Amino acid sequence: MTTIFSDIEGNSSSAPAIDYTALGSDIMERVETLALHTEQTGIMTRTYLTAAHRGAASQIAVWMREAGMTVRCDASGNVIGRYEGTDPSSAILMTGSHFDTVRNGGKYDGPLGILLPIGCIAGWSRQGRRFPFPIEVVAFCEEEGVRFKAPLLGSRAIAGTFDNRVLDNVDEDGVTMREAMLAEGLDPAQLPCAAMSKGSIAAYLEVHIEQGPVLLEENRALGVVTAISGSSRFMLELKGVAGHAGTVPMTLRHDAAMACAEVALYIEQRCSASPGLVGTVGQFNVPDGAGNVIPGRAVMSIDIRAGADALRSDAVDDIQAKITHICTRRGIHANINKTYEAVSVSCADWLQQRLTDSMQRNGCTPRSLPSGAGHDGMIIATIAPIAMLFVRCGNGGISHNPGETMSAEDAALASRVFVDFVENFSVPTTQ
Ligand SMILES: [Zn+2]
Repeated sequence: MTTIFSDIEGNSSSAPAIDYTALGSDIMERVETLALHTEQTGIMTRTYLTAAHRGAASQIAVWMREAGMTVRCDASGNVIGRYEGTDPSSAILMTGSHFDTVRNGGKYDGPLGILLPIGCIAGWSRQGRRFPFPIEVVAFCEEEGVRFKAPLLGSRAIAGTFDNRVLDNVDEDGVTMREAMLAEGLDPAQLPCAAMSKGSIAAYLEVHIEQGPVLLEENRALGVVTAISGSSRFMLELKGVAGHAGTVPMTLRHDAAMACAEVALYIEQRCSASPGLVGTVGQFNVPDGAGNVIPGRAVMSIDIRAGADALRSDAVDDIQAKITHICTRRGIHANINKTYEAVSVSCADWLQQRLTDSMQRNGCTPRSLPSGAGHDGMIIATIAPIAMLFVRCGNGGISHNPGETMSAEDAALASRVFVDFVENFSVPTTQ
């Protein structure tokens, strides 16, 4: 069968137009092929430096070469395809996404942003078309942080912010990251060589599934990301007084679980009141609780995110004040421990505008939205302006889940917008 990816040599004179319908289907087929590289048959699990990870990297490199790119692998395991420009000394246009997954995750989270640009470049390659700037497609080796409890390793290597302390992190079998890298032929001592300098990347554009239901609910295929949300995470421990469920009157109780519940409902109410703000209580425990005992201790997690940092910090301040208020009234002692904080990362205004223009030229109504999930772009933003194009998730918008899905039609439309963006891109004269 002839696909858009085959027969890319020696065809420049006829300059065939890209067949986006075929491209959308081929991207979906390749997602399925890549998903065969998994640690457990029938389940999508591909963590850093496993045999499945190595197999996926090799397959991606083959596809990059077939599309007309030269391929290199850096010391972290990133696979980088380069489609040379007419001026090889120009700053590059970087695109890409990650090819590791969470355990029992989805097939599209990451691979879409690798396979879509490879397909578009194959189209330009068939046309013999070159741009003034080189395009590099980065298949980031590690974004999810599953195996060694350290995320965004591939982008950190490229940004020059790889923290060598994580090399001593161990997986569930006690293997250190350093040992795993050496076993895969990667030399941790060479990690600094993977770093790219500020100014060498004109822009970074990542195509990614939305991982949420917003576009699906609005019946839109694509969205332009405004910012990758910042987040504040806490563990809240409340201590009251344990007591007999039958003998202590309601007015004399210091029930830690009920205080937690009141805090949780306040978080829902506070975050519902501000568009763009989300709050989640994902863990809610009564340690050593029993059905006939008033809880003396309760523990819960709090996760607050927003695209705008002020929105998030105002909510955090209000929640902390409310915890104090609730606990004082109920005679409860509170310990609040911050476990994580990350500021939001803005996508560059000029790149958002160019993506919006590309969408409009392809019949899409502009729609901007923040990304509630983290992405490699957060890290690349320290050395280059970034942009992200979201593609609608099907199936209620679920992600990090085997039910994650999207359509070939949306892959085709996203390819049109990607091609339009690149064909109208120029490297800014002042970096
Ligand atoms: Zn992802």
